[in-house]
Amino acid sequence: MKILVTGGAGYIGSHTCVELLEAGWEVVVADNYSNSVPAVLDRVEAITGKTLQRYEADIRDRSAMDRIFEENEIQAVIHFAGLKAVGESTRIPLAYYENNVYGSVVLFESMAAHGCKNIVFSSSATVYGNNPIPYEETMPVGDVSSPYGRTKYFIEEILGDLYRSDPDWSISLLRYFNPIGAHESGLIGEDPNGIPNNLMPYISRVAIGKLPLLTVFGGDYDTKDGTCIRDYIHVVDLAKAHVCAVRKLMDGSGLQAYNIGNGKGYSVLDIIHAFEKASGVKLSYVIGDRRPGDLPAFYADASKANRELGWCAALDIDKMCLDTWNFQTKNPDGIH
Ligand code: NAD
Ligand code: UDP
Repeated sequence: MKILVTGGAGYIGSHTCVELLEAGWEVVVADNYSNSVPAVLDRVEAITGKTLQRYEADIRDRSAMDRIFEENEIQAVIHFAGLKAVGESTRIPLAYYENNVYGSVVLFESMAAHGCKNIVFSSSATVYGNNPIPYEETMPVGDVSSPYGRTKYFIEEILGDLYRSDPDWSISLLRYFNPIGAHESGLIGEDPNGIPNNLMPYISRVAIGKLPLLTVFGGDYDTKDGTCIRDYIHVVDLAKAHVCAVRKLMDGSGLQAYNIGNGKGYSVLDIIHAFEKASGVKLSYVIGDRRPGDLPAFYADASKANRELGWCAALDIDKMCLDTWNFQTKNPDGIH
């Protein structure tokens, strides 16, 4: 039983490959390594003691996608490949639409042509925009604040149209909240190029001395300590949700969206303090201006994933910080 994982060398993709291999699936990865390196896949193999098949391939390249489906009997696709930097997407929106939206259409065309109609798609809590919290899957989506977020919304809509045109498709839209943490081995984790945009990789680079100071974006929100609240989820829990979602696809579950979060909100200061406790390092930080586009607070109602996928998050915030720090100290210069 083979699963194609697009973007499988990336942060969430690599952790998902580990969980898939450990659950007994055969894994085929397609990645163009635009935001990752092939060595990550060697590490996935080292963790699991199993091999995976890899293609250096771009999802926008129809013949490369066709070749993968011709050479392998793929049961389902888990589609991670995409660009993900919110700020960058406001500067170069067309690159985001071209890579994420056009690339997804090419992938779906190739799937359809080869009779593979099972897909798990990496969506994001960002599609909920300004809804009341906790977010539930039944809420309206699409009030999104960035081109990146809109690519997620558009791809969800494209998959919805595809399903309505042909109900043989089984489609799982996984709306991730804030993935952090790393594999317990310290071999794989989040390894962004340049200065990180996201909170956790920024914190761990300050802790290891590669960045001087964390700026907390806003201390005057209407929250318990004035800083933004998010729902942080351990990347290994998130990876396991994909294994559950793939199993569910095989039952012919139609088109479904699932929130994949912890269901708990933590402030930026909570995360700083948890990280200090896990690492034993005192973090230098200042409270700065709000970051444009940030919502004050959101977290998931993840009960649908619990009920229908049999999944729930098991790893707490202390473990998320501990594993991030373990990965950072074992790989001070990232993965090459
Ligand atoms: P990542 O950048 O680490 O992984 C994405 C992978 O896709 C990389 O290995 C990259 O080289 C590859 N890729 C990009 N464009 C490609 C293309 N055209 N063809 C082939 N490969 C391509 O990102 P991640 O954090 O692992 O995120 C995975 C997915 O989850 C993305 O779609 C992202 O938008 C989504 N997501 C991430 C988060 C998050 O906070 N990390 C939150 C919500 C949703
Ligand atoms: N954040 C921060 N400083 C940083 C990066 C992020 O204070 O250098 C805050 C950000 O305002 C948000 C939270 O940390 O409230 C999580 O941000 P991230 O970019 O990791 O994820 P987002 O929720 O924006 O997708």
